[in-house]
Amino acid sequence: MVGASRQPGKIGYVLVHNLIVGEYRGTIYPVNPNATSVHGIRAYPNVAAIPDPVDLAVICVPAEHVPAIAEECGKKGIRGLVVITAGFGEVGGRGETLERQLVAVCRKHGMRMIGPNCMGIINGDPEVRMNATFAPTPPLPGSVSFTSQSGALGVAILDHARRLNIGIAKFASLGNKADVSGNDLLQAWEDDSATKTILMYIESFGNPQNYVRIARDVVRKKPILALKSGRTEAGARATKSHTGALGGSDAGAEAVFEQTGTLRANSIEELFDAAMAFSSQPLPRGSRVAIVSDAGGPAVMCTDEIIAQGLEIAKLDAKTKAAVLEAAPESASVENPIDMTAHADAAKYTRALDLVLADPAVDAAIVIYVPPIVREELAFARGVWETARRHGKTVLCNFLGRSETSEGFVELVSHGIPTYLFPESAARALAAMVHYREFRERPVGQARHFPVDTARAAAALQGAGHGPRTEVEGLSLLEAYGFTVARSQAVKGLEEALAAAEKVGYPVVLKATGPDLLHKSEAKAVALDLADPGELRRTFASMEQRLAENRIRPAGFLVQEFVRGGKECILGLQRDKRFGPLLLFGLGGIYVEYLKDVAWGLAPITDADAARMVRSIRTYPLLQGVRGEPPSDIRALEEALLRLSQLVGDHPHIHEIDLNPVLVGEAGKGATVVDARVIL
Ligand code: ADP
Ligand code: MG
Repeated sequence: MVGASRQPGKIGYVLVHNLIVGEYRGTIYPVNPNATSVHGIRAYPNVAAIPDPVDLAVICVPAEHVPAIAEECGKKGIRGLVVITAGFGEVGGRGETLERQLVAVCRKHGMRMIGPNCMGIINGDPEVRMNATFAPTPPLPGSVSFTSQSGALGVAILDHARRLNIGIAKFASLGNKADVSGNDLLQAWEDDSATKTILMYIESFGNPQNYVRIARDVVRKKPILALKSGRTEAGARATKSHTGALGGSDAGAEAVFEQTGTLRANSIEELFDAAMAFSSQPLPRGSRVAIVSDAGGPAVMCTDEIIAQGLEIAKLDAKTKAAVLEAAPESASVENPIDMTAHADAAKYTRALDLVLADPAVDAAIVIYVPPIVREELAFARGVWETARRHGKTVLCNFLGRSETSEGFVELVSHGIPTYLFPESAARALAAMVHYREFRERPVGQARHFPVDTARAAAALQGAGHGPRTEVEGLSLLEAYGFTVARSQAVKGLEEALAAAEKVGYPVVLKATGPDLLHKSEAKAVALDLADPGELRRTFASMEQRLAENRIRPAGFLVQEFVRGGKECILGLQRDKRFGPLLLFGLGGIYVEYLKDVAWGLAPITDADAARMVRSIRTYPLLQGVRGEPPSDIRALEEALLRLSQLVGDHPHIHEIDLNPVLVGEAGKGATVVDARVIL
């Protein structure tokens, strides 16, 4: 403990204090040149003076001195550093220089470092019991491991965790993440048998693509619950594409979480509600939920939330209902949600829960208790946990109107029943468990690789400077990647257009193109379904005239095959500064920017990701076919997304792509790109 202090209130004091109070099982070596002992433990003037080998150095001396101390640690053969000290990269200038020096020292000696600018780490293993943080609340030992990018929040969270009886296996406050990142810890915890659930508080992803790669595997073994701040950070950005306009700052996080099955919490409270459930109850076998309550109101609210979360209200067996009726007071309702009413005593209540949990149609139960007679609280709580234990099914409890310190609440949480003050919280936590289970049962996705006409792709991007490529170049690039593209030909004048139309085949589409025509249809520069040369001739003339009147000078025209029918979809790419290549899927057309009904994926995506993207938009039922409509070619859309993923991987200088629209036909008829904007 370098910077251990005798002065109460100093971080170097609290750190040693916490280690001692937490009954640390190892040996502490306080380092302080001005003290012979700290907290009664012999102190050393410097690291080199410590007579024994040392595993970990926790450093809390002023920033200026940290690189030199790290150097001493390296020479001593210490492999791990936790740098608590602030005043590094986060303050810029001199701090950044110091941080670079510090990292260089770590690399030189092969040390790994957490921090700087962090609040420390915890190892809750009963054989270790190391609380090397300055958090005031000693953590309980347990199975939840937790990384926090914010020190202050880390303190608050450890405090809350204790109140909810959530025990900590490992904790790390990451600080500036100069060396060890959240991804590193995720990887370390993947096979850590002490860690059953992983929690993360994230402010920014260091390397989102790595996160996806790592988290995908970890989630198959244990749940990851994440709280990401900055959800609504204003995402106003100059952009030339629909895809760009649709991608707020949260698109990347959404993609990363969805793709990996990371469960996202919307608040600290929700994070812990879920953590409590995961860390103390078995995963539900399915999504059929029974509610046993002693009051109608909260049961209805709970039911609403269960349905809203996509879970089901279990249909109880007739035998179960009959048996519950026998146990229940007269006015009770035995239809799920079961309302035992305030007349039920703890014994009746427990009996009902017992019967419900025995019903094979029930996967999980939420028990709601509004204490009518406070005296019964403890008997009720005991009855619930004892019954739950016998059945091994998932049981959560809503202890309405009581506090987290009431005796019934404490009795429940300390016997492994996650307990919530509100019915919706219980429903949401249960839903997180069901959703996690569903994700884990989904097949592991596969990457796909398609053959590419590389010469053609290169030609389409030739002479690439910044800015948009023409429609023809864009479409040609897509064709090289195996997309189905409407037959198109660029022309300069009418005669060329007529010749092109013969080749493309009537009916055709005429579009004026050029840098002034970002949104062609807005400028009335798109004419559809031209049946014959006469119509093409007339349309050409009027389009030219209209453009001239509006002082728009087209660079040229496009004669294109008219694609009849089909639903308009948008596929796109936006290279996000923080996240990298984000792929977009949505139902397209002119309303796309208003409806914002889109799904995101971080390239490279797998077939499972493509399937998820297409299915996760709200309007997916329209693609399945409504009111007797035939279903659309969903496979073709998935394949197009996979091809797009490959394309953006091959060409890092492509900044944005808008395929709007891609017209998807009936199942088996494919999806045809009719408009492509590719921006380098
Ligand atoms: P822009 O997006 O620049 O306004 P588009 O080329 O996307 O221009 O054309 C506008 C709309 O016209 C499309 O959203 C689509 O509804 C329709 N459209 C364009 N090309 C075709 C085509 N080849 N076949 C059928 N409809 C088309
Ligand atoms: Mg378009």
